[in-house]
Amino acid sequence: MVKKTDSATPQHTPFMAQYLKLKAENADKLLFFRMGDFYELFYDDAVKASKLLDITLTTRGQSAGQPIRMAGIPYHACEVYLAKLVKLGESVAIAEQVGDVATSKGPVERKVVKIVTPGTLTDAALLDDKQENRLLALVPFKGRLGMAWLSLASGDFALMDTEIEKLGSELERLRPAEVLVADDADLALLNNLTIPVRKLAPWQFDAETAERNLSRHFGTHDLAGFGVTEPVLAVGGAGALLEYVRTTQGGALPALAGLRVEHATQYIELDAATRRNLELTETIRGEPSPTLFSLLDNCATGMGSRLLRHWLHHPLRNHARILERQQAIGALVETGAYADLHAVLDQVADVERIAGRIALQSARPRDLSSLRDSLAQLPSLIAALPDAPFFGGLAQALAPDVAIHALLAAAILPEPSVLLREGGVIADGYSPELDELRGIQNDCGAYLAQMEARERERTGIATLRVEYNRVAGFFIEITNSYLDQVPPDYRRRQTMKNAERYITPELKAFEDKALSAQDRALALEKQLFEAVLAQLQTHLAALRLAAQALATVDVLAGFAAHAVSRGYIAPEFVDEMRIDIDAGRHPVVEAQIDDFIPNGVQFSLTRKLLLITGPNMGGKSTYMRQVALIVLLAHVGSFVPATRAVIGKVDRIFTRIGASDDLAGGRSTFMVEMTETANILNNASEHSLVLMDEVGRGTSTFDGLALAWSIAKQLIEKNRAYTLFATHYFELTRLAQDYPVVANVHLDAVEHKDRIVFLHAVQEGPASQSYGIAVAQLAGVPRDAIRLAKKKLLELEQTSISTNGQPDLFAPTAFETDEPESHPALEALLALDPDSMTPREALDTLYAIRGLVL
Ligand code: ADP
Repeated sequence: MVKKTDSATPQHTPFMAQYLKLKAENADKLLFFRMGDFYELFYDDAVKASKLLDITLTTRGQSAGQPIRMAGIPYHACEVYLAKLVKLGESVAIAEQVGDVATSKGPVERKVVKIVTPGTLTDAALLDDKQENRLLALVPFKGRLGMAWLSLASGDFALMDTEIEKLGSELERLRPAEVLVADDADLALLNNLTIPVRKLAPWQFDAETAERNLSRHFGTHDLAGFGVTEPVLAVGGAGALLEYVRTTQGGALPALAGLRVEHATQYIELDAATRRNLELTETIRGEPSPTLFSLLDNCATGMGSRLLRHWLHHPLRNHARILERQQAIGALVETGAYADLHAVLDQVADVERIAGRIALQSARPRDLSSLRDSLAQLPSLIAALPDAPFFGGLAQALAPDVAIHALLAAAILPEPSVLLREGGVIADGYSPELDELRGIQNDCGAYLAQMEARERERTGIATLRVEYNRVAGFFIEITNSYLDQVPPDYRRRQTMKNAERYITPELKAFEDKALSAQDRALALEKQLFEAVLAQLQTHLAALRLAAQALATVDVLAGFAAHAVSRGYIAPEFVDEMRIDIDAGRHPVVEAQIDDFIPNGVQFSLTRKLLLITGPNMGGKSTYMRQVALIVLLAHVGSFVPATRAVIGKVDRIFTRIGASDDLAGGRSTFMVEMTETANILNNASEHSLVLMDEVGRGTSTFDGLALAWSIAKQLIEKNRAYTLFATHYFELTRLAQDYPVVANVHLDAVEHKDRIVFLHAVQEGPASQSYGIAVAQLAGVPRDAIRLAKKKLLELEQTSISTNGQPDLFAPTAFETDEPESHPALEALLALDPDSMTPREALDTLYAIRGLVL
């Protein structure tokens, strides 16, 4: 650590004093300190960066009597290092030289011009093009949770208030790159997060200030026009976001698309466990494939991929909106237009992110040329859209003001250079002044040739040459044999071995003009480019609408292509209580194996819980997940893998699947299982779809069986949800006798020569046996162990649970009567009058009663 200076210790050098001042203002970030062609890091930053980036740690002299540790990265390669640091959750403050090196006394002035944080990235090189990069602010208050989130690259800015228990599922849904929260907020969940959490002063979340700042930013009287009509906790968060972004962008604020209020009831609710269990965008192991997203993502653009990811996490409840998407896919399938659309979209750049960079004035030359080329594709895209009402609105968005393309076509060279400072960006003919400056440079050759001819004639020296090189500049060269013919107005510039080089006043004037023309051209190009960016600001809304339309067409075309290649059909929606699927398939599993066996499912008002039994490996989990995925895909608007699907209103999907330890969260498998179950029992409604896989497995047999039984009963009687309940507790199949809404279905296997063949077909009725031993054999458990197990099983079957003296859990007395069973000990106990007994009598009676039980 750097010690504070006091009178006893030596002072820091002026240079280090400048560094330490900037560092103190950015204590929680790494400070990149620009020095010439390098960004340098000092002291602890240097040590940290050298570890994280694997770069050399050195020292750079001393300051205040201490060696200065230092690590540096070349300025031109900084993006690679920034990307790495941001991925690791670090934030970086970038200090540039802003003063004039020539005129400044002491160290040249430096300022932090930008702060790069995981949630505020916009640079193409630092962003994952298939994933939205969001910054999320959280405002917890009395059991409620305000959330505001912002994607700087797309300009999307949204608010929502929810219950504090939803934090886990919301983090899973939004997948923020960075979280902002007040430093006094008590959110235990955040402690276990791998996402970087930035703690800010509580006043930054003040709702009134936020409302004022937001209204000022959007130029509105208040926020009512955005749907914020009642007090919303999240507004304070939105204010904090805005300020945070302003600081990171060096004071500039992007033109945001507006503010959106989201309501939980818009979407089918999926809790965090369900999003993971259904492997929507990540496998349970955290890998990107195989997932529903990796299967369906054949989008041509990053915009499409990002929207698809969003749609899969946000299945809609509103049937009318779903049907719009579905009919659009229908039209694409019928006309086959999806292939042409895909081909055109392949030529389109990430218009959304380019618009984001234009908004921040950080777009590069190639951004604008790709935007221009992408806009040029739009007419062919519109022409390829089929004739369906949904596409009418999209076509409008895909035809932004022609002035945008005209401006870019006129202003930017067909293939501009990568960097503005190299020039070669602005098109010829766009600015007469630039053309003239470029003309001077281009005309150089001609001018020199013309002067050479003129001077040869004047001097009579046939070998006289007029030339230019970078070291000597412009000169007239005359070989030694003609030196006596050199005219008096020639001034010697350089002496060579066989020749002398001269300059004339005319040539000097030309040299000044040519060299300054180059500098002036570069400066002018920069100025013109910035003016083009400024002009584009007025078109941002149109560009963003076009980007959204492009993404939508891309996703719909992808769905259509998938529907055709995999034989998906359009599901039907009804208002009744019903989920009716014929020959459904698991979309991801079917793509991985050759002979997937389709299975249907029937739910109705009179059939609400399916008890699924059958051997391990029989296909129970696959079957349950496939039902959930078909229901989910249907609500996304996609076609589904089935031959027919009729679906009623669905509000939530819950899953309790698999045994996953949440060790990081400090919860055992069984605790996780019960927490998830509690969530389901507390929240599932009659319109919810619930998947319960082997609940109760994590504890002892009777415990587990008793729990599974009571959980099933609760789901039947209280929640009345559409439930798929897979269990290995065969005893539960008796529930079907007591409740007409319960049906038994099973997956079968056949034994074939001591081996087992799984049929994977779902059939009515309970399974006949569980084949556990056969599966163990299949898995390679040694033959002796298998033989022993078979013998033990026989023994156990012969002395079944009820004859073994253990209570039968499902005998009516055990659970269903409130009266305790009669017993002599109980009777003796009830007959006592404890108040009238002496301690000695009480002890004797206790011994007597104990004798009745033993
Ligand atoms: P369970 O949950 O009953 O233990 P799984 O659902 O995990 O069984 O299925 C085990 C394996 O059987 C899967 O990995 C899959 O390859 C195969 N399988 C499951 N369902 C089907 C099906 N309908 N058709 C073909 N194979 C299937």
